[in-house]
Amino acid sequence: MSHTTSASTPVAVVTGASSGIGAATARALAAVGYDVVLGARRVDKLERIAAECGGRAIPLDVTDDDSVAAFAAQVERCDVLVNNAGGALGTDSVAEADLDDWQWMYDVNVLGTLRVTQALLSKLVDSGDGQVITIGSIAAREPYKGGAGYNAAKHAVAALTRVLRLELLGQPVRVCEIDPGMVHTDFSLVRFKGDQAKADAVYEGVEPLTAEDVADTVSWVATRPPHVNIDQILMLARDQTSAQVVHRREA
Ligand code: NAP
Repeated sequence: MSHTTSASTPVAVVTGASSGIGAATARALAAVGYDVVLGARRVDKLERIAAECGGRAIPLDVTDDDSVAAFAAQVERCDVLVNNAGGALGTDSVAEADLDDWQWMYDVNVLGTLRVTQALLSKLVDSGDGQVITIGSIAAREPYKGGAGYNAAKHAVAALTRVLRLELLGQPVRVCEIDPGMVHTDFSLVRFKGDQAKADAVYEGVEPLTAEDVADTVSWVATRPPHVNIDQILMLARDQTSAQVVHRREA
């Protein structure tokens, strides 16, 4: 796809923009005037969403050094980086935890965020008003049964994000962590490895957040004046008060 970026139009990079929160965020940032660069592995979906919001789709696997380097080489300017690519695999207890699931969660959520942030940091500084907005999770704040692998990964993402904020103090880059609770996306389908019935049960009788709700928050954070750093946001549906306390209506 051909795309030209004018020198004055700010550029937002969104990882994991092929579905869910990332796709909604790409649309929301385009709507408030950003040239959006969308990265993910499923290029067909990515291109469809990029076409909808006038953005640029670039293949990206955040777990692969070469893929991240090739992606970053095609991004000339970066004003906002939304580290969104991520997810959970499994709900096993610690006693029965699957090491491969843990490895995947650590690689995509933690090392993926690290790789992309490192690759784009000098461009964020050069923009003169850069922002790193990382999608964490309530799982970063509250451990829950069956959540250890995802809890560990998102706690690590939170640590990375908060240390980055400390280390960038004095530089023209803001850092924000947005921690959503339950959001209705493909997240649970991925977590339950394609089991649609189990994924549907997560949202049964509940009105969860939508991807657009989180995207709206990303857009609000991105559009605060340059001297305002929104450090951390925990956002939950009215039907959820903590990781596993959810109000369900009878069908
Ligand atoms: P989703 O619809 O499954 O989206 C996940 C996105 O991550 C997809 O676009 C996927 O794209 C991308 N991704 C996965 N592995 C990747 C890789 N190796 N390289 C590049 N991109 C990759 O789920 P979602 O709910 O929107 O999740 C977005 C973020 O929100 C995640 O970090 C998740 O942990 C977090 N979150 C979700 C919830 C929730 O309840 N839904 C709550 C709190 C936090 P490809 O498969 O095309 O690569």
